[in-house]
Amino acid sequence: MTHLDANAPDTPEYLVNADGYLTGTVSGRYACAHCDEAFGRKKVAKADDGMVVHRRCLEGYDNMRSAKRHVERREAEEAELAEKRARLAANIERRGTDMSAFASFDNPEIRSLDGEDYAEWCFFLEAVTTLERAEKRLAEWGERLAGNPENAFSWSMEAFDAAADKSVFGQVAYYFERGLSVEEIKELADREVYRGARSPARSTSPVSNLMEQEVVAAYARVTGRPY
Ligand SMILES: [Zn+2]
Repeated sequence: MTHLDANAPDTPEYLVNADGYLTGTVSGRYACAHCDEAFGRKKVAKADDGMVVHRRCLEGYDNMRSAKRHVERREAEEAELAEKRARLAANIERRGTDMSAFASFDNPEIRSLDGEDYAEWCFFLEAVTTLERAEKRLAEWGERLAGNPENAFSWSMEAFDAAADKSVFGQVAYYFERGLSVEEIKELADREVYRGARSPARSTSPVSNLMEQEVVAAYARVTGRPY
């Protein structure tokens, strides 16, 4: 005995009649998709997926299907997560966890890099360079602050910029350590740029607003896009 799909192309229209019974000619050949028993003379109903079940089985059948969908979704999510974990682990295996060491001219691998691998190396080299430059600029500003605080604060825009770079490209180093790809990092940066544009800094502290603007600008630099 098989289960009856009322939507199957070769299934006659009149199969479930107005009284809710299967026509006599087929009622003995098919079984309920829920309880697996023959329909016999019991009332039947069509489920949303086109399968015919006993009317008393309809609710149970719907519940079973939704539970199954739930399990399938969970399994798909878990598989996706496992795949992502494997991808991160493979990146860590290949690149190590130290962004500066990877994106260094001392890295013996770089001579053999090409295409995407070379672009990846360049992306992280740019991040390392930006991070180092930010640290240097902050140190210089710190010296000016100690020597002539009034002047240092008057001309502190650059320090904001450098502080934002240090924070944001430091975050890139952390992502590198965790094994994220360039694409994934750019995607996260994109989100930050979008967030900054959608809810611009509007704190009562003008300095905090300024800092946040610079952070958004630094994330835009991470995306590497010229527009
Ligand atoms: Zn049934």
